[in-house]
Parts: sequence; structure tokens; C-alpha cells
Amino acid sequence: MKIENANPGKDISAEDIRTKFPLAAKKHASDHSVVKVGNVSIGEREIVTMMGPNLVENRSMIFSIAEWAKENRVSILRGGCFKPLTFPYRGVKYFETGLQGLKWLSEAGKYFDIPIVTEAVSESQVPLVAEYSDMIQIGTRNMQNFPLLTTAAKTQKPILLKRGFGSSLRDFLGAAEYILLEGNSSLVLCERGIVAPHTHKSTSRFLLDLQIIPAVKEISHLPIITDPSHATFWAPWVKPLALASIAAGADGVMIETHVDPRNAAVDPLQALDLTQSSDLVQFIHSIAKLVRE
Ligand code: PEP
Ligand code: MN
Repeated sequence: MKIENANPGKDISAEDIRTKFPLAAKKHASDHSVVKVGNVSIGEREIVTMMGPNLVENRSMIFSIAEWAKENRVSILRGGCFKPLTFPYRGVKYFETGLQGLKWLSEAGKYFDIPIVTEAVSESQVPLVAEYSDMIQIGTRNMQNFPLLTTAAKTQKPILLKRGFGSSLRDFLGAAEYILLEGNSSLVLCERGIVAPHTHKSTSRFLLDLQIIPAVKEISHLPIITDPSHATFWAPWVKPLALASIAAGADGVMIETHVDPRNAAVDPLQALDLTQSSDLVQFIHSIAKLVRE
């Protein structure tokens, strides 16, 4: 396929590829970037799993999950510390742990020798997140917070850029370009569900856009993973959509794993327990074997 003619007549033109996101676009059909996070490579044959709790609630829970992650050959430990919480009121069931959480996560990652990823919600948090973590997550609500993108990119740390839940692929690649323009090519994209006409009803909060996986692969060299936990908002649907993501060509998945999902402080309905998470890891590698070998 000639990249120049990618998607003729669609919302991404050959001119966009040339002038708006030349760094995010691939030059040759076979171009694909590999991003290193610690000793993990994202965008190669091996599927990457990023698993852990929505919120690093306390030291013992993150140590238990990190130990489980290591035993189950999970690639990267995820955990929120600075959270973009939807509602401003905080309580015993809805809080963030900030710098303290970041220190616990970092300690657990080092103890079990597993790289960690966590979100920076604002520019002022970037230096701390860069100091303690192996990869900086930019959340869906900040995909077009351009000063934040630039500040995070300048650290030269690997970046996980989540797609804005109302953003087109064109906007997504525009945001990616801000990061690449800082000379930071350690960039991984993440589809985490978009708002569609039927969402925000009783069925689902977001719709996982599986179609963006081949679309990204057609235009860009960047690796892409999905986050079916945030998309479905509903634990029973996480496994089918994680497996569908891998079958559709994703380079990995981000999954919420909790020691006691029903009592999770944030988003209790979407987390898998450790047994369900171990089962999912096995299935992910089985599907990957089928589609990647
Ligand atoms: C998260 O991963 O914890 C998170 C808040 O995700 P998103 O930005 O996709 O909502
Ligand atoms: Mn969440």
C-alpha cells in the first residue's frame, strides 16, 4: 500500500500526513516503532500487559498486586496516584494518594523488578511522575492539553497517550505529534473507549473503538494498546474486549486488577480480581500466539 494515498477521501488526507503529523505517520508501509520501558519492548511480537489497580490505595495492596504481576509475567504494573476524578468530593471510598501512592508504587515496582506506569494529571506533577515511574500516562481528559504533552515529552520518559473520549484519529495523531516533536519517540497510543450516541446509558459508559487499531497501523508507526476496563466500565466485558483487541492487532492491553474489586475505592465495577486477571493473561497469550505467529 502506498502511504501517500492512505484513506483517500477520509478525514485524514495525504496533506495531513505530510504537513500535520509527519513524525507520527509512517514513511513506509512496514515502519513500526518499538518502545522500550525498562526491559519491556512495546510494538514487537510479544504482547504487552499493563495491569494493576485504578488507584494505588495503600502500600500492602500494591505490593500484593505487584507480587501477583511478577508471578504472572505481567509486563508493566499500572496504578493511579494522581487521579483525574470525575467528581470533586473526596471520602473514604473516593480519594487519590498522590505522591505517597507514587512512592508505594515505585517501591513495589523496584522490589519485584517490574516497570511502572502512572498518570500525570497536570504539568506541575510531571517532574515527580518522571522521577518515580518508568512511563508517564496522559489520561483521556488531557489528550489535548498541549502544554502538558510538551512538558511530559521533554522528560524523554516513555509516554502512554490515551485517546480523548471524543477525539478523532486525526486529533489523536495531532496530539502524538506534539510529543514526537520534542524528540521523544518513546510513545505508545492507547484506545480507552469513546463516547458514542448510545453510551452513557445503562449498557456502557464508553464504546471501545476496535477499528482504530487497524486504522492506526495503516497510517502510523506507533504502537497501540487498548484499555477495555475503562471502555466497558464493567468487569464481565473486559476479557472479551481484551481478547478482541489482541485479535484486531493491538500491541497490548491495559487492564484494571484489584485484590478486592468490590471494595475498590475508584471504579469498583470494572476491576478484575487476581484469579480472573491470571486467567485473562493466559488467554491473551493464547490469542496472541494464534494471530501473531
Ligand atoms: C486511568 O487509567 O486510571 C484513567 C483515569 O484512564 P482514562 O484517562 O482513560 O479515563
Ligand atoms: Mn477510571
